Amino acid sequence: MTTATTSAQQTVDELVDRLLADHPPADMPAQQFLGEQFDRGLAWVHFPVGLGGLGLSPSLHQRVVGRLIAGGAPSAMLRNVIGYGMVAPTLVVHGTDYQKQRYLRPLFTAEEVWCQLFSEPGAGSDVASLATRAVRDGDEWIVNGQKVWTTLAHVAAFGLLIARTDPDQPKHKGITAFLADMHAPGVEVRPLYQMTGEAEFNEIFFTDARIPDVERLGAVGEGWGVSVTTLMNERVSIGGNVARRGQGPIGEAVRLYQEHWSGDRSAHALALRDRLMAQWVRSEATRLTNQRASDLRGLGTPGPEGSVAKLAFAEQNKLTYELCVDLMGAEGMLHSSDYPRVRPRLAGLTTTDVHKAFLRARANSIEGGTSEVMRNILGERVLGLPGEPRADKDVPWKDVPRS
Ligand SMILES: Cc1cc2nc3c(=O)[nH]c(=O)nc-3n(C[C@H](O)[C@H](O)[C@H](O)COP(=O)(O)OP(=O)(O)OC[C@H]3O[C@@H](n4cnc5c(N)ncnc54)[C@H](O)[C@@H]3O)c2cc1C
Repeated sequence: MTTATTSAQQTVDELVDRLLADHPPADMPAQQFLGEQFDRGLAWVHFPVGLGGLGLSPSLHQRVVGRLIAGGAPSAMLRNVIGYGMVAPTLVVHGTDYQKQRYLRPLFTAEEVWCQLFSEPGAGSDVASLATRAVRDGDEWIVNGQKVWTTLAHVAAFGLLIARTDPDQPKHKGITAFLADMHAPGVEVRPLYQMTGEAEFNEIFFTDARIPDVERLGAVGEGWGVSVTTLMNERVSIGGNVARRGQGPIGEAVRLYQEHWSGDRSAHALALRDRLMAQWVRSEATRLTNQRASDLRGLGTPGPEGSVAKLAFAEQNKLTYELCVDLMGAEGMLHSSDYPRVRPRLAGLTTTDVHKAFLRARANSIEGGTSEVMRNILGERVLGLPGEPRADKDVPWKDVPRS
């Protein structure tokens, strides 16, 4: 470790200690604490000064987060998962000065929750084929179309939208990104219920919704580059969300084994123990893969390692919760809740209910890019295997057949 690294670490450690001493998190509302954290450059230390950062190395970010959480600070990530993990890193790279000043602070404090308006009924894995149209009208854009699977849109103040602005260009080239006001006239949010009983996500209908041109993110026609920044950060955000050694889902599996099978020498119990051991080893490999991805992330913008980590996390989570339910025996078949039809304020696996976690984990290999698509990225960009055939790559979007 270089002297400069040690000194940067000391600087952030002192700043964190001072923040916790000046503003004990237990004595103040979470929003107020997060505002102080932002103003002192401890929101994302690698962001510029004045925008929630200190212009330091991204490798210090997790150190700050870890120390603050250990000190009882509220989690900005949990309160605004899409805003914090995906929109903010995109805004800081592609936003205008006005956009960065206007949006980053209330995003961090979760006064303004964000959603991601990418997927459409006909464009998920191949999101670049999207059909929502934005047409320029003076200083505004008029948006028409449908988005789907939009997590937390029902609580969001704003959404990061990608829309087609030039159908004569090939699919990747005619897209533009916008910061959409979710409460503007012409924006309708309808719930979609998942098998957990909750509606974390929604479908969104844009009908002649107007977006001022100052809310365009990046240049006209450059929306694909903006989306790639978001998607790479999304994978790191999902895949990087891994518990410490022996904790999280695998810790739950060990607890359930001890509760239901400890001391049992039957063939069934021994077979379950074999599965538990195999899962433990995979869990450790996943944790270390994520650690490596996180260290590489510390060197700059996330690359394919984020997709590898996301793939490992998704598959591992599903297998571990399957094992948890099996370890519960007959009880595993009973869902303890009554599938309440609610629209939660938080998304993802924030539950300690094993039955619900088992159901929610099924989505891990779909959200943020499916496992098949992650394997394609791994094959092409990590292993250097030949790419998939891309027949529509240079064809104007309007001429590509659609179902
Ligand atoms: C819980 C959850 C939350 C979500 N939140 C959001 C959100 O907030 N915002 C948002 O924009 N989207 C969101 N999504 C959507 C998500 O990004 C898409 O579901 C995902 O990208 C897959 O797209 P699709 O559902 O259209 O499936 P499709 O793309 O139609 O894929 C169908 C099947 O075909 C496979 N497939 C597709 N293309 C290939 C290929 N090239 N090679 C091999 N196999 C392939 C897929 O792996 C999949 O098994 C969310 C999804 C879930 C489950």
